[in-house]
Amino acid sequence: MSRPMGDSHRRFLQSMMSNGIIGASQAKALHKHCCETHGAHYAHDRLDEFIDVINTQLQPMFMNIRKGMSEEDGLQYYALVNMAETDVTRMASDYADNELELFRKTMDLIVDSESGSASSTDILNCADSLQTKKLKKKETEHVLNKFVQDKWLNEKHGEYTLSVRCIIEMEQYMRVIYQDLIKVCHVCHNIALQCQICENPRCGIKMHLPCVARYFKGRSEPHCPACNDFWPHEIPEILRSQSQGSQSLSSSAKENTAPTPSTSTTRRSKRS
Ligand SMILES: [Zn+2]
Ligand SMILES: [Zn+2]
Repeated sequence: MSRPMGDSHRRFLQSMMSNGIIGASQAKALHKHCCETHGAHYAHDRLDEFIDVINTQLQPMFMNIRKGMSEEDGLQYYALVNMAETDVTRMASDYADNELELFRKTMDLIVDSESGSASSTDILNCADSLQTKKLKKKETEHVLNKFVQDKWLNEKHGEYTLSVRCIIEMEQYMRVIYQDLIKVCHVCHNIALQCQICENPRCGIKMHLPCVARYFKGRSEPHCPACNDFWPHEIPEILRSQSQGSQSLSSSAKENTAPTPSTSTTRRSKRS
């Protein structure tokens, strides 16, 4: 039988409901904080089991807390996912029909592209041919900003990519509608959009940039892990934001959830 939820689980869930998505280090800090606040047993390596208890209770409501990796920095995230809506209609309460159509078209462009991104120019061209209702340039830019703010898309130098939230929430939908166009990463087995591809036509495996960086770290001659051909792409550094990201996430987690660390510091300085 499944374990019942305690107050610590309920507090964790409440935080997930207000945040939607949190980084793994933030989730770890939140796990600790929730257990300590409610006097529940805390084991630092049991976060996924802790979440399983919540997920069992969420199942009848077609909700689920799911883990996924950001294609940009390779960090893990946890998102609260609505399983009842499998496609873009999950966004319907926040967006008009033509805005949803624009999102679908943007997704098409991104999945179709080799880079896993779509330029603002290409998206603006789509907006001109929407069947529901055309969007003007200014309106399109406004909607794109909203997609970024609501964490469905990321934007860098006018290039749009699918956010980790979008990939976690819509993975199943994407696998159904894009089928063979969707490939998974050879290393982490998650959907791979922003990635490098093996140039051997009989192979063609994909690897995320952070997965490439981790896989080839310390190897002098990179070879494809599937066909052993030379890997011709530039090997990205383990992204600097990877360590910075986890730091800033954990410090923001402290601000939001954990008790301030100042007490322990003062205690330590008094003792010395
Ligand atoms: Zn990967
Ligand atoms: Zn290969």
